[in-house]
Amino acid sequence: MSTVEITLRSVQHYLYCPHRWGLLEIGNAWEENAFVTKANLLHERVHNPEANHTSRGKKVFTSVPVFHDLEEYNLYGMVDSMELTEDSHGVSVNGSEKRYKICIVEYKPTKPKNQEYREDDLMQVFAQKICVDYVFGSDCSAALYYADVRRRVQLPLKESFDEYDQKLKAILAQMRNYLMTGRIPAIRKGQNCTGCSMKDLCMPHVGRERNLQAEISRIYRTEQDI
Ligand code: SF4
Repeated sequence: MSTVEITLRSVQHYLYCPHRWGLLEIGNAWEENAFVTKANLLHERVHNPEANHTSRGKKVFTSVPVFHDLEEYNLYGMVDSMELTEDSHGVSVNGSEKRYKICIVEYKPTKPKNQEYREDDLMQVFAQKICVDYVFGSDCSAALYYADVRRRVQLPLKESFDEYDQKLKAILAQMRNYLMTGRIPAIRKGQNCTGCSMKDLCMPHVGRERNLQAEISRIYRTEQDI
């Protein structure tokens, strides 16, 4: 395999803010805040294999490890939850006699205002779908579940598969390029920094400090090379 493996979690970070992803993955920086803690607690609750159960005729599995090892993706990670509903047009799962339709569900603490989903959340789940379909030979559907409003929103991944697939491949190529060159992506124009745990480190509105962060990362990398 000639491409670098990328985690689904890392794709999520990159989609949220490429600069933040670069600080984390290339600059080795990390800051927590209340938003991060809340999201972690929610995911801890979801990522509990003991919580596998049957609900309304569906088998529900949590923390399902998945991957896609074709070079153009080379992705791996976990899906929050995978629901199996019996369906004669579905797939056999782990050699089961029965066939199932698969739906993946990603948990989010809060629903975005004035929209059903954010595009970066949709792309994060699309990357999960690519892995799930590769592992189980399925064409799964996908949804987001918002804990604050206790509501599920279905995502139109199948309808625009080719568009999202091209976008995901382009994103992965960008990420690998940054990882190879060790460059931290610049702050995106119009970046929404609400709730970012790394504001104090990043100081997005102060250009001088932004350059300073790049300089710190450069020095850190140089020291590692010595
Ligand atoms: S403060 Fe804004 S620009 Fe800086 S890492 Fe966070 S989201 Fe990105």
